[in-house]
Amino acid sequence: MNNRQSISLPDASLSLVIPCYNEQEAIRETVKRLRQFCDEVQDLNVELIFVDDGSRDCTRDILKEFAAQDPRIKVVGFARNFGHQIAVTAGIDASSGDIVVLIDADLQDPPEVIHQMIEKWREGYDVVYGTRTERPGESVFKLATARAFYRLLNKLSDIPIPLDTGDFRLMNRNVVDTLRAMPERDRFVRGMVSWVGFKQTALPYIRAKRFAGESKYPLRKMVRFATDGILSFSTKPLQASVAMGMISAVMAMAGIVYAVTLRLFTNIWVEGWTALMIAVLFIGGVQLISLGILGEYVGRIYNEIKGRPLYVVQEYTGFTEKQPTVSRSPVHVIK
Ligand code: UDP
Ligand code: MG
Repeated sequence: MNNRQSISLPDASLSLVIPCYNEQEAIRETVKRLRQFCDEVQDLNVELIFVDDGSRDCTRDILKEFAAQDPRIKVVGFARNFGHQIAVTAGIDASSGDIVVLIDADLQDPPEVIHQMIEKWREGYDVVYGTRTERPGESVFKLATARAFYRLLNKLSDIPIPLDTGDFRLMNRNVVDTLRAMPERDRFVRGMVSWVGFKQTALPYIRAKRFAGESKYPLRKMVRFATDGILSFSTKPLQASVAMGMISAVMAMAGIVYAVTLRLFTNIWVEGWTALMIAVLFIGGVQLISLGILGEYVGRIYNEIKGRPLYVVQEYTGFTEKQPTVSRSPVHVIK
């Protein structure tokens, strides 16, 4: 019997972290289902930490109403929209549970699955991540791009990041504390959790349809998110620009040999303009792409070095202890 099975319950506590952005259509039902879940788990103390990521609708008011009635519900209200991954981070920072579970506010991740996650945790796992076996109700485009993205990321990344895995997961306190010690700005939480290590396992589940409202991840945000994932976990794009440079150099060499041979041994000379234009545009393209890739990394270094807090909190509701207004600023000491 490991010590988790023997923890005399309800000494152990569970924090659910729920990022919400303009979820007024879904949030009441979500709170209802999560409270049901809390009632079902009798042997753990549960807290629900909703992070309102600067919603412009009534989400925050609804959440605050619930918090006023139920001491288990706590609300972190951001000063503006900081993005899903930062909202998750703030929830983790504010959590006090021995276990933390990340779950979306749109009921796409069924709360009932958390029971199975807790079972796995009792077996001794530190991280239990949900793997989506089916995703009914998603567009063909979203499914295809997500599939391609996770496979590409896995190829490029130096550490294996599980395929088709979202942020729906359970983490033990040792993992949470390690995550909190990682100050990086471009946060790709699911990758960061893989990086941490410890004992991790997958839990397959069927990802439900969004309960109400629409996805808060338009194409633009999805591209940003995918770029963050790849650039935060790989420097291979830089190597790719070296490879592109090499290929264009080899092609240029072949072109030179061809042109000189024609000039020396035949009467047909290369008709200059077309070949020249192609060469100039090709080299120009390769150089700009390489510069762009380099620029992405430099931009990230610039953002990191400014060392601004990750998020700003306008208000906390339902917390008994005093919480900080801004995230602990990452410390970059240059010696
Ligand atoms: N979300 C957030 N901030 C944002 C965008 C999304 O907190 O800027 C939340 C959103 O409310 C939801 C979760 O992140 O609880 C996942 O977003 P969504 O369901 O829109 O993404 P999808 O499931 O379509 O990938
Ligand atoms: Mg969703």
